[in-house]
Amino acid sequence: MGYTYRRYIRSEAGAFGCVKCKTHLAALEHLESHAFQGQTGRALLFSNVVNYNLSKAEDRGMTTGVHTVADLQCRRCKLQLGWKYLFAQKYKEGKYILEKARITKVDNGLSKRRMEMSSSNGTSNSDEQDSEDE
Ligand SMILES: [Zn+2]
Repeated sequence: MGYTYRRYIRSEAGAFGCVKCKTHLAALEHLESHAFQGQTGRALLFSNVVNYNLSKAEDRGMTTGVHTVADLQCRRCKLQLGWKYLFAQKYKEGKYILEKARITKVDNGLSKRRMEMSSSNGTSNSDEQDSEDE
């Protein structure tokens, strides 16, 4: 109870989370572009984001034209993260902008597990060599 993570991202490549509360938001493999401009500076385009609330859709004038977007906020701490494109150029539709200043790389627990695996791999490797000799 009180555990608010809806989804926990397990990605070998890594994951991004809310800069404030570290709630998982997006996996590195869903990152499509670095070259976007957000309201606070640099922003990233993702094909998939989790654990967010969406505001009401609105038309917003941007450098590339008027797009229908909805603001994205962290489901847990309500921090404004970026927006989702609802109607825009085809390649952006249904995708998400996360402001670089509002997200951070989060630990997804895989690095620790990999260390444990490599230590047990060391033993199984020598076992294999033994059985090849026989
Ligand atoms: Zn948050």
